[in-house]
Amino acid sequence: MYKVKEAFYSLQGEGAQTGRPAVFCRFSKCNLWNGREQDRARAVCKFCDTDFVGQDGQNGGIFETAKQLADQLVGLWPDMTEGKPYVICTGGEPLLQLDDKLIEQMHLAGFEVAVETNGTLPLPEGLDWVCVSPKGGSKLVVRACNEVKLVYPQPDLLPEQVLGIDADYYFLSPMASPICLSSEDGAKKVNTERALAYCLANPTWRLTLQTHKILEID
Ligand code: SF4
Repeated sequence: MYKVKEAFYSLQGEGAQTGRPAVFCRFSKCNLWNGREQDRARAVCKFCDTDFVGQDGQNGGIFETAKQLADQLVGLWPDMTEGKPYVICTGGEPLLQLDDKLIEQMHLAGFEVAVETNGTLPLPEGLDWVCVSPKGGSKLVVRACNEVKLVYPQPDLLPEQVLGIDADYYFLSPMASPICLSSEDGAKKVNTERALAYCLANPTWRLTLQTHKILEID
């Protein structure tokens, strides 16, 4: 059984695949926060801006089999004979649910399969693209991936601490939340300036912006 908050067709807004059409499958639940505001302060991950609770979003629901979920995702891609159909498994933490069976069904349907994970759970076999977004205070188990996307700055996780992950790309994504600032005013702007300065001083890192939010397409 798979619990999905929402699924939709859009453009990937971040990282090395920015601009690529994709079906997003947002799984319910995360292992670093339960999604309830009253519990945020004592969560491992405190700056989440995503609603991953329940199954009440567009095209969300409970899917009894991997095939049923794969069929639902196929229905969101305009034409499976056109382009390179691409599905991004996100969350919440998708690796709480994404398994070999579902990846196999997505492949059989014709998708390339990507995951965006916090890196604290083992990867299933067969993924075509792995993005790890590490969170301070959590224990990383994924040691190799295609791209690291670090929300920056995090008070308890410095960029140099995640360079041990073997990746093709290392991205900094400016934090929208004010947890590293004294007020909410302009948090995104200040953090974008900080991230930009860090990338210029440390050119292993590249800046990535949430273009889907800038374009207001999600
Ligand atoms: S790990 Fe990701 S999904 Fe989970 S609470 Fe943090 S930002 Fe949200």
